[in-house]
Amino acid sequence: MSATCSSIKPQEHNGDLQFINATPTQWRDVPQKAIKYAPKSETIMLSGGLTILQDQLIQAALVSLGENYISMPNPNFESFQTGKAYGNRGQCNPTYFTVGNLVKYLQNLRDEQGLSSEEIVQKYVYITAGGCGPCRFGMYITEYKKALRDAGFEGFRITSFEHDKGIFQGDDIDDEILQFTPKFFITLIKSVIIGDIINLLGYKMRPYELEAGSTDKAIEACKELISNAFLEKKSLIKALWNCRGVLEKVKLNRLQPKAKVMVMGEFWAAMTEGDGNYNLHRFLEAEGAECIPQPIINRLMLSIWEAERALHKNENLHVENAKKIDFSNVKTRALIKLGKIAIKTHFTIYAKAIGLDDYEIPNMEKLASLSKDYYTLDCEGGEGHLEVAHLIESVKENISHLVISVKPFGCMPSSAVSDGVQSLVTNRFPESNFLSIETSGEGAANFYSRVQMALFKAKQLAKEEFESLELPKEIPAKVHNYLYQPHNQKAGTAAQLLASLR
Ligand code: SF4
Repeated sequence: MSATCSSIKPQEHNGDLQFINATPTQWRDVPQKAIKYAPKSETIMLSGGLTILQDQLIQAALVSLGENYISMPNPNFESFQTGKAYGNRGQCNPTYFTVGNLVKYLQNLRDEQGLSSEEIVQKYVYITAGGCGPCRFGMYITEYKKALRDAGFEGFRITSFEHDKGIFQGDDIDDEILQFTPKFFITLIKSVIIGDIINLLGYKMRPYELEAGSTDKAIEACKELISNAFLEKKSLIKALWNCRGVLEKVKLNRLQPKAKVMVMGEFWAAMTEGDGNYNLHRFLEAEGAECIPQPIINRLMLSIWEAERALHKNENLHVENAKKIDFSNVKTRALIKLGKIAIKTHFTIYAKAIGLDDYEIPNMEKLASLSKDYYTLDCEGGEGHLEVAHLIESVKENISHLVISVKPFGCMPSSAVSDGVQSLVTNRFPESNFLSIETSGEGAANFYSRVQMALFKAKQLAKEEFESLELPKEIPAKVHNYLYQPHNQKAGTAAQLLASLR
C-alpha cells in the first residue's frame, strides 16, 4: 500500500523533523474532480502508431463499422520532445514518442482549433495496446495518464486492449465506449493484414523504380481503392485485385544488385516509419539498399504462439483435485486455433489477390527451435527469442546481406538481453553481417554513420553474388514485373532473378 503525499505530515521527534504517515490511504489514479464524459455517440476515439498506411486503413475500416475514429499523425521528433517534457525520466524511446504524440495532438486541438481542455477530456478517448510487461510496456497507461495530467488534460480516458489476448479480451475494457466484438477485431485485423501486404510490396518495388516517387504514388492509389472498399462495404479481394493494375504500371529495373537488409529488433522501433527510428527504412533505400521489414503479422503470430505455449504449460500443471477436462482450456485452445487459421487464411487470400506470392508467414515453431539453444523461450518481454531466431534464420537460409536489429535506448528486453545473446550467435555464425543499433531520439549522425559502415560490406556481398552469375543474352520482360517473384537460395533480388533464368 502506498500513501498520498498530502497524508504525510512532518512532525518533530527528539529535536528532528520526521515524516510520519498519519492516515495511510490507497493511492488511486483518479481525477481530482468528477468529470461528466460525453455519451458514446459524441465520443471520438483516437489511436495510431503503426505504419502510416496501416493507420490510415484502420481509420477507414473502423469508420466503416460506424465508429467515430481518427488515426493520429505519425509520431515525429516534436512528439518525442513533448513526451520528454511531460513523461517520467528513464522511459524507453517508444513511450516518449507515443505519449508525446498524443499530448501534442491534444495541445493542437486546444491551441490551434480552439477546443477547451474540458471539452477534449469529455469527448476524446485514446485506444492503445496494453499488457503486463514484463518490461516497461506494463507501465504505458500510467505514463500516458501522468503526462496528460501534467499537460492539463487530467481525467482524459485511455482504454487498452491487451496485445497478447487478441480477440480474447478480458472484462476490464470500457465497453461503453469500445466494443471489442469479433466483428470489430476481424475488421481491424483485415486492415492491418492488407497494410502489411501493400507495405511488403512497396519495399520490394521502391528501390528499383525508374521514376522516383512512382511506387509511393501507386501505393497511395491502392490505399484509396482499399479504403473505399471498406467504406462502401465492397469486396476487399476485388479491390486488391484492382491494385494489381495500378502497381503493374510502375516501371522497374530489378536487375540492379542492391544489398538486401533485414530490419528487425524491438517491435515499435523496427516497424515505425519516421523519426522514431530516424526514418531507417527510407535511409537504407536512399543508400541503395532493399529492406525486408517486419510486418505486424509477425508480432501477431508471436502473440498467438505465446498464448498457445502458456496454455500448454497451464494444462500440464499438477493441480490437486483438478477436473479431468478443464473446459475453459478447451475453449481457449479452440479460439487460439481459430484465430491462427483466420489470420493465415486472410493473409494468403489477400496476398494472392494483389500478387504477393513469395512471402512466407513465419513458422513460429521453426523460429523457436532455431533460437532455443541461445535464448530461453520462456522470456516474453519485447520480442522474446524472435530477434535471435531472425538472425540465425537469415544466415542459415541466406535471406539477406545484412541484419539490422534496431532497438530503443533503454529497452530492457532488446538492448540488455537480446544483444548480449547475439554476440554468441555472431561468434557461432561468423559469416553473419549483423548490426545492433539503438535509437535515442537524438544522435542521428552517429546512427547513420554506423548503418553506412555495415551497409558497405552488404553492398559488396550483393555485388559479388550478382557478378558470380552469368547474364543471359536476352532478358525476358517478366523480370521487371513485380508479379514475377522466383524463390531460390540467393539473397539479393537481382541475383534471385538471374538465377531463376538459368
Ligand atoms: S520492449 Fe523495450 S522498448 Fe518496447 S516497451 Fe518494452 S522496454 Fe520499452
